[in-house]
Amino acid sequence: MLDLHVLGTASARPTTKRAVSGSVLACPEGLVIIDPGEGFQDRFTVARRHLKSEAGTPRLRSRRVAAVLLTHGHLDHTWGLLPWLQTSGLDGRTEPLVVAGPVDAQTFDHLHEHGFHSLPPEGLAASDVWRQMRVWHDLGATEELLGYPLVWRLGHVASGRWMDVTAAGTVESTAVWSPAGWAEHRLTPVVSRHSVPSCGWRIDGPSTALVVSGDTASPGLDSDLPGPDVLVHEATYLEEHADRAEGHLHSTAAGAARTALHLDARGLALTHFSARLADVGPSVAEAAAVLGGGVPCVALNDGDRLTVQSDGTVHHLSREDVGWDARLLVEGRR
Ligand SMILES: [Zn+2]
Repeated sequence: MLDLHVLGTASARPTTKRAVSGSVLACPEGLVIIDPGEGFQDRFTVARRHLKSEAGTPRLRSRRVAAVLLTHGHLDHTWGLLPWLQTSGLDGRTEPLVVAGPVDAQTFDHLHEHGFHSLPPEGLAASDVWRQMRVWHDLGATEELLGYPLVWRLGHVASGRWMDVTAAGTVESTAVWSPAGWAEHRLTPVVSRHSVPSCGWRIDGPSTALVVSGDTASPGLDSDLPGPDVLVHEATYLEEHADRAEGHLHSTAAGAARTALHLDARGLALTHFSARLADVGPSVAEAAAVLGGGVPCVALNDGDRLTVQSDGTVHHLSREDVGWDARLLVEGRR
């Protein structure tokens, strides 16, 4: 089973009810974090506490996190990483951790030629993921200070070129990969379209698949792979602000639905809502009108979960004061 813990559903500006991006995806082989935005370690701790009273559900232990997947370098998606890394060290972690994210072709070539620790070229954007990894390293994200080794994994998504940087050096890698020790689940970056180098992330199990979009315009996500059981897609705006969405390379709810149809997704979950949206009901209605009843759709709130069973059944678990309220979102494949 895949079990996605959604720990932040706001866009860049948080609200009293919604924190910035941050998710944890659990599968039987371990955990991956997607986009640890600001305050992520607090939210991770709260989610772990909530799970303690749920019998039969895998625990969110930080030592079980095999990888942190970044969709892009905007701080509402990355700013919580370093504190979480440091607390994991204090918790006694010794297992290696992969931190993966996309860069543009120029940065990739620069890294190839000059190395991870070289000086960034003049004019390199602050949001460049390599630049941030380099700063985290300088601020203490090293094996010496954390107590566990890090693998910095950087790639140019469109060309499928990736590299792994460790203390021992740099090795070329592949776009599709599995964390060390994993045999049945693999991770794939998905082409997306945002104002900085970006990607979505897909996890495939033996008979399940889930895609998380990150920030992207629509059309944006593109993939030749079979449709996922559920697509978690940003819906920052409504269609009445389609020009603003395209200007910032974000999606409307209708755009998210069009992407769900393009990818042949079996279900759609909306997230990353602008603070201007007082209620997400209109977002779901707008997406549902595009989907036309064939593909179910739901809006996510902080603390919600999405589970995917081995037959493709997807449940949406709404966070209640105590526990979750599970509702069927997508029926299993026959
Ligand atoms: Zn964002």
